Order: sequence, then C-alpha cells, then structure tokens
Amino acid sequence: MRIDIITIFPEMFEGPFTESIIKRAVQKGIVDIQTHNLRDYTLDKNKKVDDYAFSGGAGMVMMIEPVDLCIRDLKSERDYDEIIYMSPDGELLTQPLCNSLSMTQNLIILCGHYKGIDERIREHLVTREISIGDYVLSGGELGAAVLADSIIRLIPGVLNDETSALSDSFQSGLVSPPVYTRPREYNNWKVPDILLSGDERKINDWKLEQAILRTKQRRPNMIE
Ligand code: SAH
Repeated sequence: MRIDIITIFPEMFEGPFTESIIKRAVQKGIVDIQTHNLRDYTLDKNKKVDDYAFSGGAGMVMMIEPVDLCIRDLKSERDYDEIIYMSPDGELLTQPLCNSLSMTQNLIILCGHYKGIDERIREHLVTREISIGDYVLSGGELGAAVLADSIIRLIPGVLNDETSALSDSFQSGLVSPPVYTRPREYNNWKVPDILLSGDERKINDWKLEQAILRTKQRRPNMIE
C-alpha cells in the first residue's frame, strides 16, 4: 500500500510513523508513506497556501491551486483508490471503514488547517471526507496519523499473531474482554481464577461472556 499525505507540516508525522508497528511495516516494505509539503506546490513567491475568506469572517482558508497542483502531480504517477480530506464533518472513522480502506492500494490524505479548505477542493478534487470524531482539531495531521495507523495495522503481515487485529475490539461486533499479566496478586488485587485454570474451553466462554457484558455496558448501541 502507498499513502501520500498532503500537509503544510510534514514534520508532524515524524513520531507516529517512525516508531513501533508502523515503523516496522515501513521497514518491511508493506507500506510506503510519503508526505508532501503543500508549500512546494504554491506558485506564490512568498510560498503562501492560504488566503482571507471571501465575505470576511475570522480565519484563513487554504487555497485550491497548490492542492490541485499537488494532487495532479501524484495522479500523473499512479491511480488512487481514494483522495481523502480529513474533516470534522466527514464520515466518522469506524472499524468497518478502516477494514475497507486497508484493502486499497493507493491513498491520498489531505490535511486542512486554519478555517478549512476552499469548498471547491471538496466538491471537485476529493473523493471522500473522513472525521476522527465530533470535535475540532487545529489541523488534519493528527487525524491523518490516526487514520493511517488504523488502516496500516490491518494489512496482512504488519501485526504478528500475538497482536492479531482479529481479536481486537469492534472486529467481532464486541469490545475486547479484560486482560491481565503477572503478578497473580498485587496489593491483594487478584487475577480472576478462571484465567489461571488452564481449562481452555471455560476460559474462552468467560472471555466471550466478558466481551458481551462490556459491550452492553460501554457500547450498548453495538448490541442493538
Ligand atoms: N472550520 C472548520 C474546522 C477547521 S479545523 C469547521 O468548523 O468545520 C482545521 C482542519 O483540521 C480541518 O480542515 C481538518 O483538516 C482538520 N480537522 C479538524 N477536526 C477534525 C476531525 N475531527 N477529524 C478530522 N480532521 C479534522
């Protein structure tokens, strides 16, 4: 898979993509993540990528031309499955959406800033708009990092068996059961006996029971 991220702050991706699971996925060649600085695509001599909103009002708006030039440049190299704009009013990012995007080949993710982006970019250049939740971030970069992480970890070969995504919350329509590790007792707080019993069938029944209970308590809408 290849992910191209269009941003005015490419350095914000240094941490999320250079550590842990995503770092290994990149090293293994499973995913190629390229960031593109939007300022490299502006024809403005001061490298401006934003301007005042028509009709006034507070906040700058990202201009269409640099975004269009950057997307054109990328599209001349390969076909893209989706050109995604990170937006608070976009489709909410959920596990089924991550699953389906993890099966694509090439994605562009566009990060907005300031008051947002010129509406014509949304109308004519992007194919999908995704939100990571009903709150407003100062820019699309953190959302793009969340989106990329949630997709990449699902690509076969990225996670090993132990961390397999299939047993994670939401994959089976339930949240995960609780997990414990050593010591068996800490401050008089004990690990449930069943987990130490060695009876695999009973343990699996318990895990399912706990997952259902938790889902009812924490995500009742998922049970409906
Ligand atoms: N004025 C806009 C918010 C702009 S926030 C509004 O009220 O809808 C600046 C940028 O941050 C946006 O262009 C978008 O790319 C990003 N952003 C903010 N909140 C986000 C969210 N919940 N999910 C994804 N991206 C978000």
